[in-house]
Amino acid sequence: MDEPSKIYRVGDATITRVLEQRLPFKTQTLFADFDPAVIEEHGTWLKDGHIDATAEHFILSVNTWVVRVGGKVILIDTASGNHKNRPFSALFHQLNTPYLERLARAGVTPDEVDFVLLTHLHVDHVGWNTRLNDGRWVPTFPNARYVFSSAERQHFDTAAGASRRMVFDDSVLPVIEAGLAEEIGPQGGQYLPGIRFHSTPGHSAGHMSIELESAGAHALFSGDVWHHAIQVYRPAWSSMFCADKSRANASREWVLERAADTGATVFTPHFSGTSAGEVTHAGSGFTWRFL
Ligand SMILES: [Zn+2]
Repeated sequence: MDEPSKIYRVGDATITRVLEQRLPFKTQTLFADFDPAVIEEHGTWLKDGHIDATAEHFILSVNTWVVRVGGKVILIDTASGNHKNRPFSALFHQLNTPYLERLARAGVTPDEVDFVLLTHLHVDHVGWNTRLNDGRWVPTFPNARYVFSSAERQHFDTAAGASRRMVFDDSVLPVIEAGLAEEIGPQGGQYLPGIRFHSTPGHSAGHMSIELESAGAHALFSGDVWHHAIQVYRPAWSSMFCADKSRANASREWVLERAADTGATVFTPHFSGTSAGEVTHAGSGFTWRFL
């Protein structure tokens, strides 16, 4: 887990990963439509860190991507965070990972972060927005603008659902109250030169994918339109975490087309291995190659 992360160059941008944790999920739990035939069909690459030795669990990562472009430091999603009460899931409850040390190894101190761009507001994407300081949740990146979808904020800023409220209160509300938050409207759109939010709903109400274009090259930060690279080959599979499966399927198809058509390097929050790769058209479907 502590292997140095690759540095990708996309146009004038450099992009590297901070890996928070790797998580196993039972194949048929993660995907209700799971078909064991895919293990036979794709076993060669799956066995290279994308499925466990028994082939009963898919392996997922939880990542932040660090982007440097135009003299700015940008984080895409902030993983799960430390010391957070998550009684609804042992995977995220009271973590104590060396995330900030890994961020430092990627050359970034919290004060240097200019922007935190969030694909959506789930527990494993907003955690390091805040850190515990004298019993209070304070912004981890005090000089950053935190940017996220207004539809996500409206969905999570509600009394409905204790777990939803809990994540919002300790990881999103403190950055809003500190005056550091900005919202992107439901259609998405350009936020910074060369950086654009695209509405890709389904996994969550106001989910966004984030595209970077620099010197004619493209990077696509997909967010959770997918969780495992097997979904490139089974794009009709939505995960157990997807709120609206038919919209999630449509968004997954859109990301596949967009990535293939632009030749983008695709950076994912949850694929195992390097978590990054490229999509190409193959017959009526697509193939994935890890980079
Ligand atoms: Zn996620």
